[in-house]
Amino acid sequence: MTIAAIEAGGTKFVAGLLRIDGSGSAPPIVLARCEIPTTVPRETLAAVSSFFLKSAAEHGSPDSIGIGCFGPVDIKHASPTWGRITSTPKPGWKGADIAGYFQNALSAPVAFDTDVNAAAYGEYLWGGARGLRDFIYLTIGTGIGGGVFSNGSLVHGLSHPELGHLKLAREANDDYPGRCPYHHDCFEGLASGPAIADRWATNPKELGNDHPAWELEARYVARAIAAYSFVLSPERILIGGGIGMRPGLVERVRVLLVEELAGYLLPLTDSGKITHFVDRPALGSDAGLFGAGGIALRFSAE
Ligand code: ZN
Repeated sequence: MTIAAIEAGGTKFVAGLLRIDGSGSAPPIVLARCEIPTTVPRETLAAVSSFFLKSAAEHGSPDSIGIGCFGPVDIKHASPTWGRITSTPKPGWKGADIAGYFQNALSAPVAFDTDVNAAAYGEYLWGGARGLRDFIYLTIGTGIGGGVFSNGSLVHGLSHPELGHLKLAREANDDYPGRCPYHHDCFEGLASGPAIADRWATNPKELGNDHPAWELEARYVARAIAAYSFVLSPERILIGGGIGMRPGLVERVRVLLVEELAGYLLPLTDSGKITHFVDRPALGSDAGLFGAGGIALRFSAE
């Protein structure tokens, strides 16, 4: 199958025309790919659609479209606002009809889910969560979010999980007020890329590995992961995103997670098991794009 896959992020859209074997056993082949900055919907969506029309002229039209979108989004298929972004603070994007736009522009059926659910599904099909029925894909970057796989399928429920908006116990010496517009010092408010930049008044890329920012960041990530582990009992947690995949962070998180769990989750008491338990996504930054292709594949099979 030829699939138009879109990882619609708050900073950039990654679009790829993928060829995927219908059985889903082999990873997608990327026929064409591009990245487009997320500005305003009219401009960004038109640029993505024109990329697909051009690449379809060369490689053939897509059979279906898979979109993993930043949110919150409406993923309830029966809802009148399905496929739209709902309450984002990002200017211009509230209410944007992402699924409808591409369905019309490319004349193909759309499978639509959150960006993190798509990335989780990519890791499930082709990456670091193959064969697992219970795992979490967490992304830490401009925002913090996660896709949850439970008993072999993505958790949707009332809307979709919002792992970034968990309220965490604060470190005693941390007086940063947090920057989530809804909850101030939730996990995302304390530990997203913009929160790190704000707290230390510099671009996180400029902070060296021995800067205290990273120990504090790893502490909050470990605390959140301990909470997810107690509530959801995942077999594995993969941490992606620009901040999450920073060299050294996962290693610190593993050490602090042992402290946060305090010996309570018996299967995780030795360091070898913790190393397997918390890792980076095997597909790296392709998880979101490939996963968007994966949800389109699943949708076509239904
Ligand atoms: Zn929040």
